[in-house]
Amino acid sequence: MNIAPHISAEQFDIRDFMRLEAFPHFLCPGCGHGMALRALMWALYENNISMDDLAVVTGIGCSGRLGAYIDANTFHVTHGRPLAFATGLALARPDLHVVVITSDGDCLAIGGNHLIHSCRRNVNMTCLMLNNEVYGMTGGQVSPTTSATRYTTTTPGGNHEPVFDACKLAEAAGASFVGREVTMQVPTLKDLVSEALLHDGFSFVEIISDCTEIFGRKNQLGDSAEMILSQKAATRPDSYGSKVDTPFRPNPLPTGVLARANRPEYRANLVPAKQKELGGG
Ligand code: SF4
Repeated sequence: MNIAPHISAEQFDIRDFMRLEAFPHFLCPGCGHGMALRALMWALYENNISMDDLAVVTGIGCSGRLGAYIDANTFHVTHGRPLAFATGLALARPDLHVVVITSDGDCLAIGGNHLIHSCRRNVNMTCLMLNNEVYGMTGGQVSPTTSATRYTTTTPGGNHEPVFDACKLAEAAGASFVGREVTMQVPTLKDLVSEALLHDGFSFVEIISDCTEIFGRKNQLGDSAEMILSQKAATRPDSYGSKVDTPFRPNPLPTGVLARANRPEYRANLVPAKQKELGGG
């Protein structure tokens, strides 16, 4: 593997952590998922986490394809199931850093049940939910986070369903670390992901991403560069921990660390029970 943990920060090069043989990547120009991937790899680098000690589990969708490019232990599983798969992996291999890369459709629709139980259980892993408001890979269908009135292939008259606030959902379900950031602010996103990686328990990070191709074009949000500039104009470099407007949503969304609970990690409760069963103390 191409890990280089001892080089200086200035020398961080995402290509050192990628399976370059899998390139060119499939992402559309300007897709926010690439910036989210960069923030993750940067956070891993800063925390000196070896790619040998990293396991990445992805579901289905454009976010799910990111795992193919990461030169670590990667698992591409069925739609909506990365958290279920990762739960078993994290319990069997607590020595690994387990990271789930998922999306609004994968995590909140077909995988919604797994999300709430992952939050409840508090197994030590990090879930990065890339929210671009749409099923990009499968043709641009409406998702649980598609904003009101936005057009998708399955809402040609505009979406009329209320949306999930994924962070509120995760907090209510018991996640012990919850945060949100936009892809445009890569350094602050990196810091947030870093905190999530170091958290002992289930950490959930919603990353507001751009689907420049399917969603942006359908909603006339401009070309790739215009969407990126729109997100940049709507946020601030110091947005960490403040309310910001996103280009997609009419209401400001809080960013930064939104919830943190001092709950015991899943195994902390499991081990005494097992000891009792075995006749121990
Ligand atoms: S379809 Fe959308 S989410 Fe998928 S790679 Fe293209 S821009 Fe990104």
